[in-house]
Amino acid sequence: MKNEVKTLTDAIRYFADEQVCIDTVAQMRWPNGPQCPKCNSGEIRQHWLATQKRWQCRDCGKQYSVKVNTIFEDSALKLDKWLTAMWMLANCKNGVSSYEIQRAVGVTQKSAWFMLHRIREAMKNKSIRKLGSTGGPVEVDETFVGGNPKKMHRTRRAKLQLAYGREHKAVLMGMLDRDAREIRTKVIPNAKRETLQSEILRQIQGTGTVYTDGWQGYDNLEAQQFVHETVTHLDEYVRGNVHTQGIENFWSLLKRTLTGTYVAVEPFHLDAYADEQAFRFNNRATKDNRKRPVFPRAEMAVTMPGEYLAG
Ligand SMILES: [Zn+2]
Repeated sequence: MKNEVKTLTDAIRYFADEQVCIDTVAQMRWPNGPQCPKCNSGEIRQHWLATQKRWQCRDCGKQYSVKVNTIFEDSALKLDKWLTAMWMLANCKNGVSSYEIQRAVGVTQKSAWFMLHRIREAMKNKSIRKLGSTGGPVEVDETFVGGNPKKMHRTRRAKLQLAYGREHKAVLMGMLDRDAREIRTKVIPNAKRETLQSEILRQIQGTGTVYTDGWQGYDNLEAQQFVHETVTHLDEYVRGNVHTQGIENFWSLLKRTLTGTYVAVEPFHLDAYADEQAFRFNNRATKDNRKRPVFPRAEMAVTMPGEYLAG
């Protein structure tokens, strides 16, 4: 049956069944069966409420849908549209435009663009899950990466100036989910509050715990329903468990590998280098993740819904 999904028409037909969509997403995010988003109880304690298409946790009573703590959570778009768009991205060899998604999936141009953006991000992260979804804290920090402009060729300097303004530096944002031992990085246009906080909203589950330094760009995260703890760095770097040293160590590692490579200043390359470093971090052979291999992940299915379907 699954092998018959070969064309876009097949995919649309296949995902028209709501239960197929729910099963597909559940499989991507919970390869070992559903897990309670509140108390983390495993599959055996989770009860499927067929009429409501939700699970209920027998331990804490929490009811939740398959979309909880995923990139789909705060979207009104139905899963059939999301999955069809994902299928397109994974299977159309020449790439997919928002216009094509708009036509195939039947959404507005604006929605299509939004979906495309989010799916690309999930592909980059190799996960549809938000960080912090196992209840642990997420360290968030931003750093500036850039070369000495005096040593650069003039045209390069002009180009960088265009891209980053006068600073000649790229801003890299990073998040470390301590429980999941997962780092995500992204080159962002600036370190302003709006930019930082919209990334946090996209990547970290609401009600999650966020640790940052005292930079004002992180002020008022509580208003977005996060639990927010800061260390000021003026008088303290660590307060008990509250610190951002995990992500800061990651920055020093990254910068060490970048030393002398001015190429890395360009956003495309910097993103790629940071991704590569994050990949190594996320796949370190520690005692823990030997038990729970991080790669290849079950969520890789997101990257390749087509492969998932073909398997
Ligand atoms: Zn529970």
